[in-house]
Amino acid sequence: MTSQRPVALVTGASRGIGRGIAVGLARAGMNVAVVYRGNETAAGETKTLVEAAGAACLLVAADVAAAGDRDRLIESVRAEWQRCDLLVNNAGVAPLERKDLLEATEASFDRVLGVNLKGPYFLTQAVARWMIDQQKEHAGRRFRIVNIGSLSAYTSSPGRGEYCISKAGVGMMTALYADRLAEFGIGVFEVRPGIIATDMTSVVKEKYDRLIADGLTPIGRWGTPDDVAQAVVAIAEGRLDFSTGEVINVDGGFHMRRL
Ligand code: NAP
Repeated sequence: MTSQRPVALVTGASRGIGRGIAVGLARAGMNVAVVYRGNETAAGETKTLVEAAGAACLLVAADVAAAGDRDRLIESVRAEWQRCDLLVNNAGVAPLERKDLLEATEASFDRVLGVNLKGPYFLTQAVARWMIDQQKEHAGRRFRIVNIGSLSAYTSSPGRGEYCISKAGVGMMTALYADRLAEFGIGVFEVRPGIIATDMTSVVKEKYDRLIADGLTPIGRWGTPDDVAQAVVAIAEGRLDFSTGEVINVDGGFHMRRL
């Protein structure tokens, strides 16, 4: 059935930041396609929350790093709603094992770059083509793309170099697509989280607890998925429509140089 509401496609939305974004967008009046890799239980919980917010939810299990899965994912959204107004490239992985730069493996590099950079890069290409097609038929609609980056784009962590490289690449990917898609009125943004409480950071909780207590961030607390979701919702609602290629830090002020 064609969706009367705008539709958001959010990758990695079964848990963590992606779930927060999916629920935030549902509250803002969008229907949401929740993409996840394999955690069906968590995806089902997100669906319940999205529906409780009054939106329709489509669950799609797909590996963003796999070309066939990306095609199938887009086809699923097209078949369900015939539209996609917002793409949020949120799915991401940390290295399975933190290894020093002098020891890290090529296999881990390929895995992390595949999910965090190659997947979103080509998913964006495919969705952008579809958005351009949709625009020909629906001139009044606004289309937007948000990439979830990381402070690791500019902060060296030699124990997870491949993650840093992938997020630095997301920064350039945002600039490239913002430049290319501006003529079609498609805004492209990067939302760059700091230290956010999710499964990804639960393994380094004590370390970050200590760093935050010692003053690492001007705003001295952990971020939440909802903090990140609010920035995405502001973009989705068109409050930044004279901006594109913009990086929005949601990091408690971590990015500032301080003396
Ligand atoms: P998380 O809690 O580990 O959740 C990861 C999500 O991505 C899950 O929904 C997972 O699905 C999905 N996913 C993983 N690999 C996938 C793949 N190949 N294809 C499709 N989906 C996949 O992570 P998070 O902390 O919310 O992080 C979300 C994004 O924010 C990531 O891009 C991360 O790099 C970025 N980020 C996080 C922080 C932080 O402090 N947490 C800071 C900066 C940036 P399943 O549930 O099915 O496994």
